[in-house]
Amino acid sequence: MSVKEKIQHFKQQLPSSVQLIAVSKTKPIEAIQEAYDAGQRIFGENKAQEMASKYEQLPKDIEWHMIGHMQRNKVRYIAPFVSLIHSVDSERLLEEINKRAAQNQRKIPCLLQVYIANEETKFGFDPEELMALNYQELSTIYPHIIFKGLMGMATNTDNTAQVKSEFLQLAQLFEKRKSEFPDFEILSIGMSSDYQQAIEAGSTHVRIGSAVFGARNI
Ligand SMILES: *Cc1c(COP(=O)(O)O)cnc(C)c1O
Repeated sequence: MSVKEKIQHFKQQLPSSVQLIAVSKTKPIEAIQEAYDAGQRIFGENKAQEMASKYEQLPKDIEWHMIGHMQRNKVRYIAPFVSLIHSVDSERLLEEINKRAAQNQRKIPCLLQVYIANEETKFGFDPEELMALNYQELSTIYPHIIFKGLMGMATNTDNTAQVKSEFLQLAQLFEKRKSEFPDFEILSIGMSSDYQQAIEAGSTHVRIGSAVFGARNI
């Protein structure tokens, strides 16, 4: 199947309540343009400079979502245009995003990444840390950030029951925090290998790379 056919396939298959983020990291401009021509408007990248360069070259009605772990000194490359940062994993990063958003006279929508996997390699707040965050405080300290919801990655395993239970744990945290965070509406869970479990658990945004663009070399 071509990229165009895969985009159409996902658009038909996903429930209308679930947004498709086409994860285009490492993929060339031509592949993104092909997905765009098939109607796709939201793209996910994990490197700030790569996103900025693609932003320059592609149509301006694309929504660019940052999904990868960010170093603070890279925030400035995407602050003028990024639509949503999924991967906010520390208060120090919030501080930098707030500062760069203010310099660009905008507010930047962000998701708090929560560590739900049973692995050593993933970033994010612990569930306990997340429960301890106070909306009144955060919104006072970081007035240029809109707290839109949560993002998480399940353990990389074939055990679908485990994946589903990790997603459900995050969905529960999302419901709990939603009562305090007035702009919470996004639960970003699910990738090519586990988006079905994520949708069953209540995902609103799936981040699909290889199932749309093919396998990555890097
Ligand atoms: C690369 C990536 C994805 C997409 O992964 P696929 O397995 O190619 O669908 C989703 N989320 C994050 C955070 C990623 O880094």
